[in-house]
Amino acid sequence: MSMPTIKHVRAFTLRGGGADYHDQGDGHWIDDHISTPMAKYPEYRQSRRSFGINVLGTLVVEVEASDGTVGFAVTTGGELGAFIVEKHLARFIEGAKVTDIEKIWDQMFNATLYYGRKGIVLNTISGVDLALWDLLGKVRQEPVHQLLGGPVRDELQFYATGARPDLAKEMGFIGGKLALQHGPAEGEEGLRKNIETLATMRERVGDDFWLMFDCWMSLDLNYATRLANAASEFGLKWIEEALPPDDYWGYAALRQQVPSGMLVTTGEHEATRWGFRMLLEMGCCDIIQPDVGWCGGITELIKISALADAHNALVVPHGSSVYSYHFVITRTNSPFSEFLMMAPKADQVVPMFNPQLLDEPIPINGRMKASVLDKPGFGVRLNPECQLHRPYDH
Ligand SMILES: [Mg+2]
Repeated sequence: MSMPTIKHVRAFTLRGGGADYHDQGDGHWIDDHISTPMAKYPEYRQSRRSFGINVLGTLVVEVEASDGTVGFAVTTGGELGAFIVEKHLARFIEGAKVTDIEKIWDQMFNATLYYGRKGIVLNTISGVDLALWDLLGKVRQEPVHQLLGGPVRDELQFYATGARPDLAKEMGFIGGKLALQHGPAEGEEGLRKNIETLATMRERVGDDFWLMFDCWMSLDLNYATRLANAASEFGLKWIEEALPPDDYWGYAALRQQVPSGMLVTTGEHEATRWGFRMLLEMGCCDIIQPDVGWCGGITELIKISALADAHNALVVPHGSSVYSYHFVITRTNSPFSEFLMMAPKADQVVPMFNPQLLDEPIPINGRMKASVLDKPGFGVRLNPECQLHRPYDH
């Protein structure tokens, strides 16, 4: 059976939202006094953009096959990612068969080991990998979820991440995750305010709706333990990314110290099967949250997910829009999904990578039918109104 080869790979950047969803304007909830590892410095406490959370911007990877079919994907990584694709990774991609996904991944990873392993290099490898899955789906005229073995259920159900779990409940979501606003540097008063916010939301949403705190790597073990204990009274379902990603020992201890029944989750800034092996073998968490656009792409997520399954941990990817949906629908150990509320006031459902993609599906009443994903590849198109920039070529 003849299979097209890959003729060209190109990398572009884009500003203003899209896959770099932190790249938003003033007044957006995602930039409003959120607890971060930089919040110990008062001058970087009020806004995450102030310390540069949006410096990278979006990376767009496009792969063109010899039969003219084009696949693409978006992730975070911007100009640095574009450099890595054009100047380094292109040699492993161009000339390969469209089906050579596993080999290309292995070559990209091993050729960058001396400066990669995690972070922006893995964001970039993820972007290439997702573009290759999109291309394969388009060549075969099949959705990616079908290439992965097909749906295990009829629909996805979602919890919402954003400043208004009370509105998320009205919109049909199964839970709401708040960004923790005050970190250890804001002392007892900050801790009290965090709990007050949770209490207010609990009062508004009733007993059964899930409420979670996302701590974005910002706490220490003692603070996280005290927060978890104080939040227990208000039914906190899980405490997310409480500690810096390298503190596997802290996570293992936290999991022992949280109130019984409360879940510990993490992993959005972790990458590859080796990073997740640390989290799983050390008993760091109950749910791993790989970002499909950062952890190594679908090719690596298949391995991460199998590892998690053998450790009885759930896999609930961080954000990642369609790249997550096509995977989650095919796995029994991914029972629900995250939806990032990208409306500035978290008061309506807009596509997660808005305005970058066309045909990007959104949950309706907190759910998404598997049939919505029945389009070739990941089923989305680049919005031609978003101005792409190609900083390098080869
Ligand atoms: Mg998170």
